[in-house]
Amino acid sequence: MTVVLSTISAARQWMRTERSAGKTIGLVPTMGALHEGHLSLFRQARQRCDCVIASIFVNPLQFGPTEDYDHYPRNLDHDMTLAEQEKLNAIFHPEAREMYPQPPQITVSPGRFGELLCGVSRPGHFQGVATVVAKLFNILQPNVAFFGQKDAQQAIIVQRMAQDLNFPVAIEICPIVREPDGLAMSSRNQYLNAADRVRATVLYQALRRAERLIRSGVRDAIQVEREMQEVIATTPGVELDYARVVDRQSLQDVSEVTGEVLLAVAARFGRTRLIDNMIVVPEG
Ligand code: AMP
Repeated sequence: MTVVLSTISAARQWMRTERSAGKTIGLVPTMGALHEGHLSLFRQARQRCDCVIASIFVNPLQFGPTEDYDHYPRNLDHDMTLAEQEKLNAIFHPEAREMYPQPPQITVSPGRFGELLCGVSRPGHFQGVATVVAKLFNILQPNVAFFGQKDAQQAIIVQRMAQDLNFPVAIEICPIVREPDGLAMSSRNQYLNAADRVRATVLYQALRRAERLIRSGVRDAIQVEREMQEVIATTPGVELDYARVVDRQSLQDVSEVTGEVLLAVAARFGRTRLIDNMIVVPEG
């Protein structure tokens, strides 16, 4: 049986009981509308921890005023069925007013990490993410927290937050789960109409093209970026946000591909903004 906890005090009580029984706790933070990407995190958490809790919370703090907070897919019945199937021990599913009884004054700043890549078109987004993750860590005090490489910038920020602010939690980053045609799984894929769903594979195609270029010996990051931009921007009906080659850890631009790099892309398909990425290590 998966327990549903909707208040912070119930969640803390649950956590204390499990901890006093000597169990390790794995946390998987999500916004719900669960798919195979989320399930891969649950399975990893089950392997690593005695008990697993997933949070399902569409965090208003990380949505901009013109973004899709009101329309973000919410389907608790479907999510609960999957949670039961995956044998999760608990779901933490608070209302927004439980998490934010008053507008927060004290928040977590992701520093320059919040201003790069997605931070340019989503100002304040990563501050909202870092703040809610800090709250979840404080409420649930997990031993290990699991995040997806799908959201590469978020993963880096959460890792740095845990280091810089000394959260006693290990952060594990799990690989990207894709559809058979390469599209990275995302709750927002539900928004796509049939034509945009086909077009959306262009993100993965651009990443693969860049990977091939690097593997064939191209080291000029600008050239690689141009190729990715061309693959995406020449697809009708797709609006490129960015296609970048950055240092895997610092997320800063690189001019030459000498070590491990992160290829990161974002584009709009109609009103739906999707992201994807790939880590590439140059050979030789
Ligand atoms: P979300 O519900 O979109 O906030 O995602 C919750 C967690 O699942 C985040 O750590 C995401 O990075 C991760 N995630 C989402 N999609 C995928 C995917 N396709 N593969 C792996 N992890 C994912």
